[in-house]
Amino acid sequence: MVKYKIELDRETCIGCGACTVACDNFVTDGDKAKVVKSEVDSLGCNQDAADGCPVSAIKVTKIE
Ligand code: SF4
Repeated sequence: MVKYKIELDRETCIGCGACTVACDNFVTDGDKAKVVKSEVDSLGCNQDAADGCPVSAIKVTKIE
C-alpha cells in the first residue's frame, strides 16, 4: 500500500503559519510549525501545505 512521508524542516521554517491554515496535519509549535502525523495513507491537504510554504520547508515523499 502506498503511503506518504511528510517532513518539515524546522531549521528552514520561518513560522508563517500558512501550513497550519492549509492543512490540519500541521500545528504551531512555539515560533515554528510541526507535523502531526509524519506518515499518512493519502496525501490530501498535505500537498497543499507543501506547495504553499514560502520557504519550501515541507517535503512530501511517496513510500511503498
Ligand atoms: S508554511 Fe512553511 S514556513 Fe510557514 S509555518 Fe509552515 S513550514 Fe513554516
